[in-house]
Amino acid sequence: MPKSAYQPASRSPVTRSRAFYSVRLWSVRHSRGLERIYKLLAGVFLKLHPFWKFVGYKRAEKPVVLIEKTVKSFLFDCRMCGQCVLSDTGMSCPMNCPKSLRNGPCGGVRANGNCEVEPDMPCVWVQAWKGSRNMSAGDNILHVQPPVDHSWRGSSAWLRATAQSAEEKDAQKAEAV
Ligand code: SF4
Repeated sequence: MPKSAYQPASRSPVTRSRAFYSVRLWSVRHSRGLERIYKLLAGVFLKLHPFWKFVGYKRAEKPVVLIEKTVKSFLFDCRMCGQCVLSDTGMSCPMNCPKSLRNGPCGGVRANGNCEVEPDMPCVWVQAWKGSRNMSAGDNILHVQPPVDHSWRGSSAWLRATAQSAEEKDAQKAEAV
């Protein structure tokens, strides 16, 4: 049979990742530890800013994306939106919401806390709230997230966050002078 894009109606792009539910839920349960690890990693990336600049952020993108994708796909079922909000969402990736909601759940969460579209999947926003309660910056879940910029899809959120932090740091230094 020729290969086609057809998928049976009962299988959505979210259903295909069912095997990762348990890892995803583990990450939410361990959101505090993962928050600490991310802070360390962000610090190391920021220290490496001169190196990224020397090599060129663009050139560094390919190998970093490979590592970021591997790690985050495993832990969070990451969809590489390129504008990561895990630190604000209890380590529960909102791009796993079948409606891609970035600012809280829709009105369809089931009584058991599962998704209305994927009845056997825990709602990513119910999980996000649980995860956020373990985190030191858990109230960041109240931040309003901007709409997803799809032109960033597939790019490294780690490098983008690093470049932004470096810019902020430079601006603070310039202000202080
Ligand atoms: S928010 Fe985006 S970058 Fe972060 S885990 Fe989800 S898809 Fe990946």
